[in-house]
Amino acid sequence: MIVRITSKYGSVDSIHKTPHSGIDIALEEGTPLSTFKEGVVKHVLDYGNSNVGKGVVIEHSDGTQAIYGHLSQINVHEGEYLHEGEQFALSGNTGRSTAEHLHLGFKDAEGHVIDPSPYLDEVSKNIGQQSFWDKFVANGRVGDGIGDIPQNSVWEWFGEKAAEITVNGAVTFMSDIALALPVLTIIGGTVYVCLNMFSSGLAKWSAIGTVLYGLLVVKG
Ligand SMILES: [Zn+2]
Repeated sequence: MIVRITSKYGSVDSIHKTPHSGIDIALEEGTPLSTFKEGVVKHVLDYGNSNVGKGVVIEHSDGTQAIYGHLSQINVHEGEYLHEGEQFALSGNTGRSTAEHLHLGFKDAEGHVIDPSPYLDEVSKNIGQQSFWDKFVANGRVGDGIGDIPQNSVWEWFGEKAAEITVNGAVTFMSDIALALPVLTIIGGTVYVCLNMFSSGLAKWSAIGTVLYGLLVVKG
């Protein structure tokens, strides 16, 4: 995702009386944020209406820490291990903030505040919408927590869909390819999990094959 920086590291302005400890990125409230690197949730912050408001500090395996502030929703707890690409929060406008944005801060392995600029490209790639497949592989969740699609576990979601099939009839349901795709993805995902025990490459392509084959059956 291409991001727009509204305040650079070290800048002093009407909002930042002392040099800015991070980078501010203009971001629509509710934008999904995913880890750009694996790590452990070091702190879940809530400063209320001051400072960064709701925030998450993620410590990476090399000892560096990323601080994400002004969040609207946090989906992780302290001590939780996060894979690379795993969604952990939604951006927002909490804390001392005049517009929807993300505050990104960084600390080196010694705990000193540093300029996050060298990491900005990697971080930006993990801001915004992920594909359904990426999300499923990354954390086994469907939906994006925005609008009327809740962020459920796959099995909760499947239970709801199963209930819909019972009410509306399987034929009506399956004729809608847009709705059928997530179901096929779950079947594909199950294939993935089973085969992943033997070979991750084989598992991924088998899962994709299952979904494509399923789509052909639905179309035919
Ligand atoms: Zn900031």
